[in-house]
Amino acid sequence: MAWQRKIPFGYSIQNGEIIRQTEEEKAVQDIFSRYLLGASYSQIAAEMERQGIRYHQHTPRWNKHMVKRILENPKYLGGDVCPRLISDADFLAVQLRRGDQTTYAPCPKQLAPVRGRAVCAICGSPMTRDTRRQGRPRWHCQNPECGHSLYIADEELLARVRKKLRLLALAVEEIRETAPPTPSLDSIRIQNELNLCFNRADANHEYVKALILGAATERYNEMPDPGPCQRLRDLVRQVRENPEDEETLWAFCEAAASHIRMGQGGIELAPMPVLKIQHREELAV
Ligand SMILES: [Zn+2]
Repeated sequence: MAWQRKIPFGYSIQNGEIIRQTEEEKAVQDIFSRYLLGASYSQIAAEMERQGIRYHQHTPRWNKHMVKRILENPKYLGGDVCPRLISDADFLAVQLRRGDQTTYAPCPKQLAPVRGRAVCAICGSPMTRDTRRQGRPRWHCQNPECGHSLYIADEELLARVRKKLRLLALAVEEIRETAPPTPSLDSIRIQNELNLCFNRADANHEYVKALILGAATERYNEMPDPGPCQRLRDLVRQVRENPEDEETLWAFCEAAASHIRMGQGGIELAPMPVLKIQHREELAV
């Protein structure tokens, strides 16, 4: 739709940069204040119309969805692209009030594969989910210096990840055989110890035998297991053949996605290094 806003309400674009739009900035702050004073979405929408503020240029009309979208938009906290319009305290207070109106959402079991893989798109640290503060799922970067957070409903998050998984299955061009392993630290230590013994005239034979056995065991443990490769191949085929099968999809997630990067720009799957991927860019956003 040509009249859809391309940048969030409250901002305009100047020389390719997003800047505050004075009138809309005031309106955003007014909307947050009114909501915190107890107004409903619809009451605020009516007030915006009364003040003659326009959300869309082609119409003076407002509706509650516009108000809701404004109240939940974390872009107003400022960031790389958009300047800050709302203080952390006010934004949080609004989310708390919104949370009162939605039911507490415990972490659904289906989210487990996402939780184990969620990392911050900005700094790469793990993201954790909580709903304590406003009953609304928030994913929060564990790195205190980053503090990136993202509000996303569980269902929407799952839907997006499912979509990405299907795209990933289609994009797999090749599954590389597991690369030759690098020796473990233990293996290196045992080998060093053995070398020392071989250079020693009085080495204890029993000890040397134990070391040789230990070294052999380590080597054996390091041998690549051909199983996962075949399993991954099967899963890719199954997802392609039956993309709606939830169970297969999440098994594929376990096997094929090393990380799920979460950012304001979207959700991105990072494929396991053994996967050779075509059209990588489709996996972003
Ligand atoms: Zn981060």
